[in-house]
Amino acid sequence: MSTLVDLREEVTDLVQRLVRVDTTNPPGNETAAAELLREYLEASGIDNCELIARTPERANLVARIPGGDGPSLLFLGHTDVVLADPAEWSVPPFSGELRDGMVWGRGAIDMKSQVAANAVAFASLAREGFKPSGDLIFAATADEENGTGFGLEWLCEAHPDVVRCDFSINEGGGDRVELEDGRAIYQATVAEKMTAPFRILVKGRSGHASMPRIADNALVNATRLIDRIADYRPEPQLGPEVEGFMQAVFGEVPPAAEVVERAAPLSPVAAVVLDALLGPTFSPTMISASQKRNVIPALCAVEVDCRLMPGQHPEDVEPTIRAVLGEDVDYELEWVEGAHGGTRSPLDTPLWRALEEWVAETEPGAIAAPLACVGFTDSHWLREAFGTVAYGFFPTTGELPPEVAAGLVHSADERIPVSDLEAGVSWLRHAAHAILS
Ligand SMILES: [Zn+2]
Repeated sequence: MSTLVDLREEVTDLVQRLVRVDTTNPPGNETAAAELLREYLEASGIDNCELIARTPERANLVARIPGGDGPSLLFLGHTDVVLADPAEWSVPPFSGELRDGMVWGRGAIDMKSQVAANAVAFASLAREGFKPSGDLIFAATADEENGTGFGLEWLCEAHPDVVRCDFSINEGGGDRVELEDGRAIYQATVAEKMTAPFRILVKGRSGHASMPRIADNALVNATRLIDRIADYRPEPQLGPEVEGFMQAVFGEVPPAAEVVERAAPLSPVAAVVLDALLGPTFSPTMISASQKRNVIPALCAVEVDCRLMPGQHPEDVEPTIRAVLGEDVDYELEWVEGAHGGTRSPLDTPLWRALEEWVAETEPGAIAAPLACVGFTDSHWLREAFGTVAYGFFPTTGELPPEVAAGLVHSADERIPVSDLEAGVSWLRHAAHAILS
């Protein structure tokens, strides 16, 4: 029987080795990580490991401890990482160095840490002869960061039987946040917003820039629309995640308009997230107009990063956007790239209860609080394909404060405390016992 100390060393070593495999996406090359993980799992006696790939160099690894006909649980994680520029780092980004009790390197947080913890929880259960009542599944998937169809999206479509599951644990939550009143909350994401970017093509009439009155400057017209978007505050509305959060933290659910002012004194960080979950958000982020300084542009394109509430669709908000933009400026609105994500899982589930139990046992007095994810993760593929109850939860200990950790994701000097890895393994083992015993 492995002790928790053994598992801590095991998971630390595995994260270090995973970080050293450069899976920068593009091009990904996730097969090298999948092979490392297969070797690790096979050494623990798991022979049910399968590399499944659309192209040979971008393999997904799926392993299984078969169970009875009870509900199944999937430990999900992606093995690809985003680009790292060594010039910005204090250690080489693919060194996996252990320094000051932390593993350093690209993917240390997002998300080779969780992939390694998934593997160690899975392997340790197998070594102990764990007999699940339903399948326990491990999946290390490719291409989450770029989403070009080699990872979970493709598996759900081409090999649904290997990833179909009733419950899933993925990235996207787990931050331990200390409230100003001394209590700690562990945030878990149970839903995600839909991303639905749009472009506004603002019209004008070109002319020589030396005589402004001769033309109608599309760029100047666009600034009026940008101001209106920036000033717009949608009517706040409560979804089940914010309701669940307020109930968990305050013991009651205030009206939507009071959520941010209630939360801000306890946690400014949480208040910013809650604010983004009370309605759709519209952030103008890109603009392009004239190609020459001396030509007044006839056209100006403004791109807006737009995130809708789970369950909302572009056609639901387009009339509001048009009303905000007004009628005095000539423009066209087009949705670009389509709409993605926007799924949710219910809160009244055995997996949520397992999460509450783990938090209560790990830190008496701490609170498990649900939230929706403002971005999105691979969880939405599972929710869409199989109706899976998918939560984002990889608990942190707070050794690295959440506001610091958040700034390291996709950035320089990404690192994770060993204590977080240990907490992650503990949570995953707890969840497997709770759902599958
Ligand atoms: Zn990620």
